[in-house]
Amino acid sequence: MTIGLGLIGLGKIARDQHLPAIGETAGLDLCAIGSRNATLPGIPSFPDIDTLLHAAPDVQAVTLCTPPQGRFDQARAALLAGKHVMLEKPPGATLSEIAALVELAEARGLTLFATWHSREAAGVAPARDLLRRRKLRAVHVTWKEDVRHWHPGQAWIWEPGGLGVFDPGINALSIVTRILPETMFLEHADLSFPANRATPIAADLTFRTESGVPVTVIFDWRQTGPQTWDIALDTEQGPVLLSKGGSILSVDGVERMAEPDSEYRRLYARFRTLINEGASDVDVSPLRHVADAFLLGRRREVAPFED
Ligand code: NAP
Repeated sequence: MTIGLGLIGLGKIARDQHLPAIGETAGLDLCAIGSRNATLPGIPSFPDIDTLLHAAPDVQAVTLCTPPQGRFDQARAALLAGKHVMLEKPPGATLSEIAALVELAEARGLTLFATWHSREAAGVAPARDLLRRRKLRAVHVTWKEDVRHWHPGQAWIWEPGGLGVFDPGINALSIVTRILPETMFLEHADLSFPANRATPIAADLTFRTESGVPVTVIFDWRQTGPQTWDIALDTEQGPVLLSKGGSILSVDGVERMAEPDSEYRRLYARFRTLINEGASDVDVSPLRHVADAFLLGRRREVAPFED
């Protein structure tokens, strides 16, 4: 059975990743776009999700590629209209709104899929398996990138709910929460806010796992030159490194896996499977750690940021 799909929010990630991945996923048919400004040749476009839900009966499922602020109303409207929903990360602006969506999806018998694309990076599943056979001593996450390069002119990331440097940082947390064999808890957080912005440009976090393994995390959006998306895992049996956002896995200093990116193709295949199985997949743990950082974090004011 082919599933008619509507895509809402035709911004950077929708164009870079969602459109090609949908095109390559059997059993999905992109049949409507919800965009305030953009259109796609040959695909009916609607100015907002409410109009789309009303006027595009072929749509059975929607993907929301809009900013997290405001996504709750869109997801709720889609579920109330009987559509399955796939959410870009982070799944929402607050934990409470996601809990409400989970309840609504369940009550209506619909699929709700909160995606974490970085968990689909090639090295993540093998790293998870490896950590179940090794004794972990420490974890260090370094996620440093240039905000001007990756988020040019995106005003929403600097507004409350936009998460600031946690927008990329939550990708690292989504990997860590997937691969560690036990839960971790935040102990300490320093958040650096530009004087003119509502969200942090950098964050230093210290977690500890249930059995006491330290997990240190550095997020920084002021990195120019080479970019760093590394998770270093110190184990009693030797070092394990996930680099380039999880796409490269090195074990004991030897590169074991480096595959081309297929994160979004895997997400769409999973969405199709979840719909066919009548299941949902919503793990809020990465967002919960971010919420904890805002709860526990000490705020520092740093130099104003201009795009
Ligand atoms: P973006 O380039 O700013 O695109 C977001 C799109 O959402 C806009 O182009 C706009 O599309 C629509 N939109 C609706 N209401 C909006 C509002 N009030 N303000 C701004 N845009 C609004 O952002 P993005 O980078 O694609 O990110 C979207 C989501 O994907 C975020 O949750 C982000 O964390 C996630 N994501 C981004 C990346 C990345 O590399 N950029 C990677 C993975 C995940 P229309 O004009 O078509 O309505």
